[in-house]
Amino acid sequence: MNKGNTKTDMKSMTLSEMQSFVEQLGEKKFRASQIYQWINQKLVTNFSDMTNLSEKLRDRLESEACLHGCHMIQRQVSKDGTNKFLMKLWDGNTVESVLMKYHHGNSVCISTQVGCRMGCRFCASTVGGLLRSLTTGEMLDQIYEIQRITGERVSNVILMGIGEPLDNFDNVVRFVRMLSDEKGLHISQRNITISTCGLVDGIHRLMEEDLTITVAISLHAPNDELRKEMMPIANRYSIAEIIQACKEYIDRTGRRITFEYSLVDGKNDTPDHARQLAKLVHGLNCHINLIPLNPVEGRMGDRSKRTNVLEFKNILEKYHSNVTIRREMGSDIDAACGQLRNKNKGGETT
Ligand code: SAH
Repeated sequence: MNKGNTKTDMKSMTLSEMQSFVEQLGEKKFRASQIYQWINQKLVTNFSDMTNLSEKLRDRLESEACLHGCHMIQRQVSKDGTNKFLMKLWDGNTVESVLMKYHHGNSVCISTQVGCRMGCRFCASTVGGLLRSLTTGEMLDQIYEIQRITGERVSNVILMGIGEPLDNFDNVVRFVRMLSDEKGLHISQRNITISTCGLVDGIHRLMEEDLTITVAISLHAPNDELRKEMMPIANRYSIAEIIQACKEYIDRTGRRITFEYSLVDGKNDTPDHARQLAKLVHGLNCHINLIPLNPVEGRMGDRSKRTNVLEFKNILEKYHSNVTIRREMGSDIDAACGQLRNKNKGGETT
């Protein structure tokens, strides 16, 4: 059976690409707007549901095109209302998406790759390496599927699930443009955050795209020596290069940068580390998000003690840093990225 890998995937198409595609099929251009709306606003998953198209056209699309999306196969609901979804892709691979409910709206955290090749020592997503990157349609459909399931509107999207977004650059940028498009879900770029382990080249490329998204940098250590012990990517880019790229990003876009700092007991959470971090970011228009480590079996580290977390925060504040401790959501449901997928590996594969 043709599983769709030789067909053209319409879920990843921009409107103008779709217009060329339908014209190639000998159809009128306005059909593209109709199909685009079915996919990206009405969130249908089959050509047969596109009822304002002729049956002939629907059949034609069925044989020549496909809609590669996500299908939820497992859902965990945390006591705090956080929902974690295991999503199956057309080829049997799985990724995770998380829905977090805040009073200001619903946030969804999506995956950008199947696995990851960055190798951060404390992270569950990188176990087993990178299998492949997600298409734009597969990233969009994590949000679409959550809206289909819950019937609720998503207002914030963070690219902090499995994978390194800037290692899937082109698809991620296209994703941001389509998600914020008024002909799609029209989520403001200001409400979209890309989290990166600090691929400096990618940050420079991102500047050229003129997006108004928020960039979050996973720093996790205030000096290169320690960062290398936690994150192999630190062997490629120094903290100085990252900070320089951030400065340029802030100057160019006017956007504030977020630094993520996962606190690992006895590793990167001492008062001295806090002072080093404060000096590093001094004068930068940034926000520091402290994340008590979510310990993963077989991976580096334990969670910092609460008193150390608070002291770390106090020191940063003394240096006038803008800092928050991330509210831990869903820790009772394998919410550290990659945990649910790892648990299900070897399970359902078809
Ligand atoms: N690859 C991207 C985005 C995915 S990870 C990045 O590195 O930013 C999202 C965030 O969660 C990163 O800051 C990552 O370092 C952090 N993280 C991963 N595993 C974690 C764990 N077990 N506990 C706490 N934070 C973790």
